[in-house]
Amino acid sequence: MPESESPIVGAVLAWYAEAARVLPWREPTAPPWAVLVSEIMLQQTPVSRVLPAYADWLIRWPTPAALAAATPGDAVRAWGRLGYPRRALRLREAAGAIVAQHGGEVPSDVAALRALPGVGEYTAAAVAAFAFRQRQAVLDTNVRRVLARVLTGAAGASAAVTVAERTVALEILPAEHERAATFSAALMELGAVICRARAPECAGCPLATRCSWRLAGYPAAAGPARRTQGYEGTDRQARGVVLAVLRAQAGPVRRSQLRTAWADDVQLARAIDGLVADGLLDPLPRARFQLPT
Ligand code: SF4
Repeated sequence: MPESESPIVGAVLAWYAEAARVLPWREPTAPPWAVLVSEIMLQQTPVSRVLPAYADWLIRWPTPAALAAATPGDAVRAWGRLGYPRRALRLREAAGAIVAQHGGEVPSDVAALRALPGVGEYTAAAVAAFAFRQRQAVLDTNVRRVLARVLTGAAGASAAVTVAERTVALEILPAEHERAATFSAALMELGAVICRARAPECAGCPLATRCSWRLAGYPAAAGPARRTQGYEGTDRQARGVVLAVLRAQAGPVRRSQLRTAWADDVQLARAIDGLVADGLLDPLPRARFQLPT
């Protein structure tokens, strides 16, 4: 361990060396394109659901150029039930930008990554760290929760990333880039499998003796509890049902067919309007719809 390095780093890395899940996008042979695909899919979907979709996606579109040549409808259809399907459109647009602006190779520069459609600050840092082994502060929800608990004694992180949080996250990163990239992955893994939002497994945590939140007796979060959004009966579910009907058909679908899948007419109309506005559905004459071409 380098002399100036926080002892947190060594503890988390030692735990990760033993406990890391084997995931295809973490393989040293995974190309940057595969890492980018995984990061977009993982943004709002759990690992277990991403795994099969990720494998199918990369078989079908092993390079950005391959996806850029597909239709938006192909991408939405292949997105399946991962949820938040606008990500499929943005990923295809990103593939087009990679072909047009970067010769078909995923860029390694954070600013260039950040400029790709659908790539925010977190995803750009994650791809730079995991695909290109750079020293980047990778601040996803899991990492932010672990750092907040261990370093500040709070139950969780604030709603949005603060400057102070970013500064601390950068300070704690090892100086050497490869070690920093592995530490970022390890911290994320710790938050995903041990230091979960609810019921953290402190008994198996490598930071148990250093965690300010635990040592303070787990004080409750300040402010009102965050409400978790349900899914049943929401507009989001209605949109998912409409897209599922479209995906199951080779061609256009009539509005009357959609009505048999979602009974609430007002909500169905809202779902259809929203999908059309988002570019996920093409309206056709005679009240028919198809996936975007
Ligand atoms: S001791 Fe518990 S709360 Fe603290 S980092 Fe570990 S799992 Fe999270």
